[in-house]
Amino acid sequence: MKKKLIIMAEVSYINPLSIEGREIIKDYGDLNQLEKEDEYLVEEVTHTTNQKISDDSLIPKSYKDLALKRIQWAIEKKNNKNYNQNEFEYLLNEAIYKQDVVIFHVLCQAIATQFNTGSRETRLFVESQGILIQERLAKLPPSSREDIIDEILDEIKTDGAIKWSSIKEVIATKKLKLSELLIKDGDIILQQDDFLYNFEDKFTDRSPERMYNILVGDSVKELILSRLIMQKTEEYIARIKEMSARVEMHPAIVELASELKEFIPDEISKYNQYYAGSGGIYGTVQAGKLNPDAFPPCIKNTVEGVSSGGRNDAIVLLLTSFASYARLYPRIFASDETIKVSDVDPDLTITQNEILPLIFDAADNCTPPLFEDQPQEKINIISKLGFGMHSEIDINHEGETTWYTPMSCEKIKMHLPQLCKPDGSCKGINNPLSCYGRKKFQMDKEKKEE
Ligand code: SF4
Repeated sequence: MKKKLIIMAEVSYINPLSIEGREIIKDYGDLNQLEKEDEYLVEEVTHTTNQKISDDSLIPKSYKDLALKRIQWAIEKKNNKNYNQNEFEYLLNEAIYKQDVVIFHVLCQAIATQFNTGSRETRLFVESQGILIQERLAKLPPSSREDIIDEILDEIKTDGAIKWSSIKEVIATKKLKLSELLIKDGDIILQQDDFLYNFEDKFTDRSPERMYNILVGDSVKELILSRLIMQKTEEYIARIKEMSARVEMHPAIVELASELKEFIPDEISKYNQYYAGSGGIYGTVQAGKLNPDAFPPCIKNTVEGVSSGGRNDAIVLLLTSFASYARLYPRIFASDETIKVSDVDPDLTITQNEILPLIFDAADNCTPPLFEDQPQEKINIISKLGFGMHSEIDINHEGETTWYTPMSCEKIKMHLPQLCKPDGSCKGINNPLSCYGRKKFQMDKEKKEE
């Protein structure tokens, strides 16, 4: 009985969408308590092995605190070069699984209320859930890890077998090859029982159990498990979003949702100047900063991530030249001077803090993320800014290559037709840079008049 209880706890700790997870939510009851200090939480967080406790602000005191810290962790893990795991070690402490399940559901609801399903914020949350699952699994002792994985896969499979098509995104990211999966009639064979049932009689001279370990393997199972839960999380958020159009959300969720709207860009801006202040995609832009609201459709489509063909050219050629000239020298086509980046950004801070983060972020949004399978494209981006074939921007290398000028609409239509979806702002222009300049000018003017 005791073992069963331990396993139940671990199932919802890895899969908050499990039946146990849903029962925890039913028991939690009153969402008005989200901000109330929770002694058990504070106690467990403080006593988590390796948790840094010297700074009181690192310790979440209430469920809401925990929810915000969970988002802060996701942002830091992704963006902070000096990320310190000891500040968030409690997220891997199974003793707070109930709190963890509650804040997972609360965050899904708040995110669905505030953001679109394909938005950067939703993806940040869903991706971070996948990372958490893998990190938590890695901390479990191997024997209980296997039980948990099998139990969760069993539960997920109650909707039917796991089809290879449901994990095609993992395959697209090249983290997993289709040839590495064992597939029978479109279903993935993951569990030992299924394997033995389907293939036992095919191995006469070897142990079928041993072949199962060689052919399926734990890491494949863990990766698929995390991807499946990520997918279920996405679907869950989409269902809440749909429902929130008809049903009024709890005021505590609405309040958290509007806090997240400020909290996420504020936290990201600590590591990425592109989002700094009130600028960036999250608000009104300060003069001089890039204004993503004024980006033409082809650039908006690139920034959101390119998943089909043309991904490399979209980032390396189209976005790199557009973002750098739009920010530093939008008059390029009206001038006949030859110009270098350092002529307009002498200490390269704008390039480092605003232009490259925008380009790298867009590269990361691609499917598969650009640098994951082609890290050398970073060097090509640096070279298109005029700093030679190097992995970093360095003034001493400037001039080794030339600063690539923005592509014309004609070229984009020819080489990247899937990105060109002209709207009214494209009328009568022949380059995305001109489209941006005109739109930004109009927007600045309207803002002043207001
Ligand atoms: S017309 Fe030009 S600016 Fe507009 S979407 Fe197409 S390529 Fe971009």
